[in-house]
Amino acid sequence: MSSTSTPSSAPVAPDASGIFGQPRGLTNLFLTELWERFGYYGMRALLVLFMVAPAMRGGLEFSTKTAGLIYGTYTMSVYMLSIPGGFIADNFLGARAAVFWGGIIIACGYFTLAIHSMTAFYTGLVLVACGTGLLKPNISSMVGSLYSREDPRRDAGFSIFYMGINMGAFLAPLITGWLAQSDAFKEILKGWGLDPTHSWHWGFGAAGVGMTIGLIVFLFMKHRLAHVGHAPATDVPRPWGKLLGVLVGAGVLFALVRLSDTNPAFHWISYGYVVVPILAILWFGTRNDPSMKRMAAIFVFALAAIIFWAIFEQAGSTIQLFGDQLTRTEIFGYKFPSAWFQSVNSLWVISLSPVFAWLWVKLGDRAPSSPMKFTIGLFFLALSFMLMVPAAKLTASGLVSPFWIVGVFFLQTLGELCLSPVGLSTLTKLAPANLVGLVMGIWFLAASLGNKLAGVLAGEFTATDAPALAAFFQKQVIWVAVATVALFLIVPWVKKLMGEVK
Ligand code: GLN
Repeated sequence: MSSTSTPSSAPVAPDASGIFGQPRGLTNLFLTELWERFGYYGMRALLVLFMVAPAMRGGLEFSTKTAGLIYGTYTMSVYMLSIPGGFIADNFLGARAAVFWGGIIIACGYFTLAIHSMTAFYTGLVLVACGTGLLKPNISSMVGSLYSREDPRRDAGFSIFYMGINMGAFLAPLITGWLAQSDAFKEILKGWGLDPTHSWHWGFGAAGVGMTIGLIVFLFMKHRLAHVGHAPATDVPRPWGKLLGVLVGAGVLFALVRLSDTNPAFHWISYGYVVVPILAILWFGTRNDPSMKRMAAIFVFALAAIIFWAIFEQAGSTIQLFGDQLTRTEIFGYKFPSAWFQSVNSLWVISLSPVFAWLWVKLGDRAPSSPMKFTIGLFFLALSFMLMVPAAKLTASGLVSPFWIVGVFFLQTLGELCLSPVGLSTLTKLAPANLVGLVMGIWFLAASLGNKLAGVLAGEFTATDAPALAAFFQKQVIWVAVATVALFLIVPWVKKLMGEVK
């Protein structure tokens, strides 16, 4: 996304001394991101549960609606701050320093959440969001800069990196969920003379330990990064004015979204999430310049991604609440913490990624085009929530089997693997050379808005009215089905817009 990630700065003789014949730097970035995501998903697994838990059980006793809004705003901010985060790395700090300082801020955030107070809660969330904005886009761009543009190992490198993300995301809820929710750990706390209702904060603290391990790994393996991620030359003037513009722009966007949340008179702003990309598609798509046409394709992918993440990112809210309140959290006689459901998606990613890698290679030229892969991604997403309709109906007669959620995550992961890794690689290829950073920003903005919508939707979750819950899922299935068909119909046009990019 920057001068630091320009593929042409890659070494002439490719380094293949890392894992699976990859550059040595990948081992560093893989492990650092594994631990960063350990923190992110470990904390996220608890966030909504902690907010809605009654005060006598150590929670904040927020309504589902409030918790959904805060969850959405938080996850939105995490991704939205990637835009200033990327800009700061590109023009001021360099990606390495951005990852390092981002990691420190994130760890401070989790340790702040470990304190039982409302001020600490909000401060912790702000710190984690700011730190992640610095770390996440820049660690991904460093992966890209390990390779030259033509390097055939590039896609495999990103897949290995995506596995790292999901190894962290798999492990974390198992640990933070046990600390926060299990009776066994509450007994241990009692034994130590500590308040067992504060167990949540031990979960948040564990997320901080994870991030700290990530930072240590990053520092110890720094030498492996070779040429990647250095600060821009000191004789280049720093664009302070532009930085101000980027920060103000992000602030205005944030304020608009908040306004649409809190003031019903401004609710219409949220339609902009869909209307603005459609206008951009039409505007760019009707230009004659091929690079403008490719921008139109980028906005098609971004719009599909917003819709995808709006459903998918309810994993930590809607699905988590369903798992906690309406599902038997017991398997083969063992009662497990409901946060463990958060590990299921990652387990599927880890198991299915090799299958997808094999499939794409096997299909070769017959593999679906990227807009078609996005369509398939949305299709599986619609199927996943379709499965929730009978599950929701069954809750009328008591707790349902945990396998419903396992099935939902299976279908969602099939969709995720058609969309998430494909999106980043396609978008970076489509981006005009001088706009790669901007296009990455658009991708993260799509994740950001999708996360926000996910929070808004989750606010409508109900655990006490089975037919209403079934209707809630059904409504979303219909929306995604409409989006899937619409995207399917424009696949040939999008392929044309993309020109020679596949
Ligand atoms: N699960 C992936 C990650 O954490 C992608 C999430 C996203 O882009 N919304 O990196």
